[in-house]
Amino acid sequence: MTRRDLPSVDRLLQVVRAEADPTWPGALLREAVRAELDDLRGRLQAGEEREAAPPEALLRTLAEQVIARITTELRPSLRPVINATGVIIQTNLGRAPLSAAARAAMHAVAPGYSNLEYDLVDGKRGSRNVHLETLLTRLTGAEAALAVNNNAAAVYLALLALAAGREVIVSRGQAVEIGGGFRIPDVLRQSGATLVEVGTTNRTYARDYDAAITERTAMLLRVHSSNFRLVGFVHEASLAELATVAQAHGVPLVDDLGSGTLLPTAPFGLAPEPMVQESIAAGADLVTFSGDKLLGGPQAGLLVGRAALIAQLRRHPLARALRLDKTTIAGLEATLRSYVRGQALDEIPVWQMISAPLPRLQARAEALAAALQAAGIAASVTPCRSAIGGGSLPGETLASVGVAVLPGPVGAEVLMQRLRLGEPAVIARINDEQLFFDLRTVGEDETDALVTRLRDAS
Ligand SMILES: *Cc1c(COP(=O)(O)O)cnc(C)c1O
Repeated sequence: MTRRDLPSVDRLLQVVRAEADPTWPGALLREAVRAELDDLRGRLQAGEEREAAPPEALLRTLAEQVIARITTELRPSLRPVINATGVIIQTNLGRAPLSAAARAAMHAVAPGYSNLEYDLVDGKRGSRNVHLETLLTRLTGAEAALAVNNNAAAVYLALLALAAGREVIVSRGQAVEIGGGFRIPDVLRQSGATLVEVGTTNRTYARDYDAAITERTAMLLRVHSSNFRLVGFVHEASLAELATVAQAHGVPLVDDLGSGTLLPTAPFGLAPEPMVQESIAAGADLVTFSGDKLLGGPQAGLLVGRAALIAQLRRHPLARALRLDKTTIAGLEATLRSYVRGQALDEIPVWQMISAPLPRLQARAEALAAALQAAGIAASVTPCRSAIGGGSLPGETLASVGVAVLPGPVGAEVLMQRLRLGEPAVIARINDEQLFFDLRTVGEDETDALVTRLRDAS
């Protein structure tokens, strides 16, 4: 077949029109027809061999391809994924899944108007901050609170509002990169503050901070080394020690916890992740943490601490550029209410996954393996370890149970690709030519879809 055998745009468009969804705009059809013909012409020009076909058959084939092209184009780009990786707070997969309460709250305010910035008691203008501040102060013991778009924004706003043109003292061991290009030294520079590194990579003492304080010092900044761990001959000053130094000099102490947590992680056999309320109790003047890491809510950055500092941040012109929208505030408020009601472990998916009992995971893995075997797929139950992810608790894992699937002749890579491209997309791990599904991060309501997807893709 040669380029001369290709139909004209108008001829192919005619056939496509007859078969396409009648609601699709003409311009969309024409563009897809052009693109399809251009692609094929290009491939033929590049020497691709293609058997000649009768004009009518060729038209039908091309029309089908055009319709498939448009269908793909109209499909949402952002879509649900079944996370079988066992990494609970998977940044690439959207971090924290939201609780039923958070989803309901977001759904309730999305379609209509709300009292986002309206005081219903007094019947006048209100502040969007009130919906979260009381909950955050109650949960953390801080005087005041502010929520922004994410924790990177929280740290940036704190530096900009409190330290621009002045110096910020950071331990050399904490001048870190969090990931995704978020490097503490760079963020500091962007905010117009000057980084003053103290101590050494492995050991920094409170006296190092003390010695570095001058009249140019705007703050002491502690950064939680979220995604890595130094072991061996290491020392960092405790927050309480830093608070003593900061108070003696009248300089604010800011603690970037990254994930932070309101619930202790130790009861689940994990290393203790710093708790927000402990940082406040230890004397931090401002604490920043993420809404969508261990808190388990929607993407947000939370700042809690002294009322005077929070007021300064709120007044900064950038605060408006970083503010949250109504649906995020609704989801965050509902998530925080789960903590206030003492139901966080039961209601918030991140904590449900962390606290999932091993026997329950075992039973679910056995049921999944049996369903797969019944569908003719070679599957076996295997112990494994889940990770927390999201830059919290590096190297810490939870004993878990999963299902290993031996792919048929297609092989592991192709099967995995098919699973990724279908609906819902499935992401698993490949170990030794087998696909591996950790049940801890797979919702109970997702298991049936997982079986269907594996059966169809195998
Ligand atoms: C994750 C993290 C951040 C960035 O938080 P986002 O919510 O992802 O913007 C900042 N600092 C630390 C220490 C972190 O772990």
